[in-house]
Amino acid sequence: MKIKIIGGGPAGMYFAILMKRADATHDITIYERNGPDDTFGWGVVFSGKTLSNLRAADEPSHAEITRNFEAWDNVDVVHRGERISIHGNSFSGIARLRLLKILQRRCEELGVEINFRSEIVDIDSSRVDCDLFIGADGVNSLVRDTCKNDFQPDLSTRPNKYIWYGTNHLFHGLTLTFRETPAGVFAAHSYKFDKTTSTFIVECDPKTWQQAGFAEMSEENTRAYLAEAFALDLSGRPLLSNNSKWLNFLLVKNARWSFANVVLLGDALHTAHFSIGSGTKLAMEDAIALKESCDATSEVAEALQRFEEVRKPVIEDYQAAAYDSMVWFENARDYMHLSPIELAYVLMTRSGKVDRESLRRRDPEFVARYEAKARSTDCADSTD
Ligand SMILES: Cc1cc2nc3c(=O)[nH]c(=O)nc-3n(C[C@H](O)[C@H](O)[C@H](O)COP(=O)(O)OP(=O)(O)OC[C@H]3O[C@@H](n4cnc5c(N)ncnc54)[C@H](O)[C@@H]3O)c2cc1C
Repeated sequence: MKIKIIGGGPAGMYFAILMKRADATHDITIYERNGPDDTFGWGVVFSGKTLSNLRAADEPSHAEITRNFEAWDNVDVVHRGERISIHGNSFSGIARLRLLKILQRRCEELGVEINFRSEIVDIDSSRVDCDLFIGADGVNSLVRDTCKNDFQPDLSTRPNKYIWYGTNHLFHGLTLTFRETPAGVFAAHSYKFDKTTSTFIVECDPKTWQQAGFAEMSEENTRAYLAEAFALDLSGRPLLSNNSKWLNFLLVKNARWSFANVVLLGDALHTAHFSIGSGTKLAMEDAIALKESCDATSEVAEALQRFEEVRKPVIEDYQAAAYDSMVWFENARDYMHLSPIELAYVLMTRSGKVDRESLRRRDPEFVARYEAKARSTDCADSTD
């Protein structure tokens, strides 16, 4: 089969790897506009369950990925300077660039051709001479945009602003830090992803963003302002930029996932708010599901139909949980009156995926502390 893939991110490369290892005669080419060492952002996280899926799909890349992991089992919530740790949440972090390099090497080893610095600008003419054409070109997908009449995308730009920094302060665990300032509330999502670096994403609502004056502030002053707001949490260390800019989260859905020989994969197809840390996992699991659909039939159209049938319910479930989580952060200022333990409890149960009993199984001490606090303030029902 001749396969063309637009986008050399986790979705595109992982699909290429799985197809090529299944059948070395497939002719697979990836077109990637960036160079092999360019990337945005810092680290990404995976949950424990994702890793077993990756192991089953491709053992060599799984082994390389896990060798480079920083693992933890706690979510920490910091509010009014107090840290509450909730254990029993297994996650691992890896630098995005390291993950991409592992997948690039695996592509090379298997004979997948990656054309770096090759931006595809004309989708209609590129998709004609192949059996399968994959739009794995990320959240601002040109494939999706060019073929919008077929995919019928539903795009929603969310109100909150976020900016993705790094720091050499190590956050041992997924740490959610809230800082109330005269401008408003800032939330930071942070975790270490190698021996020296952590991801540090700052999020705030549009009112806070306006009042802080970020619209007129230089990149350098923005970084200094936020490092100051979180000075106690960063032990006074600076924030590190990697072309870091304020963005609004784009929620992506598509009514149809494919037409003819064209299909979308990863962020081009769907996004899930970064507060549930699932974008890369979903992109790679999309690749697994599409490969399995291709295994089940030799007809491309049938495989693409099957992919949508099997995968859509899973994605809808994640998007629903991620939606609740995203809306929680959009309204974070409404929760700042809560005590640290109450805030931690409300945060852990925000997406409806985790209830009190499952939290109790993970960390009975945390739930006991919360219940004691709720009894003492008689507010258990109002925060449930
Ligand atoms: C602030 C933030 C934090 C995040 N944190 C996490 C996290 O902790 N864990 C997690 O799992 N995920 C996280 N994500 C999400 C994650 O980065 C994405 O979900 C993931 O990268 C999706 O993979 P992808 O392959 O679909 O797309 P991408 O990784 O975006 O790759 C798409 C590729 O296509 C290329 N491309 C685009 N257009 C063209 C073109 N016309 N021609 C050629 N090439 C093109 C791009 O250069 C890019 O390399 C986060 C995202 C954000 C914004």
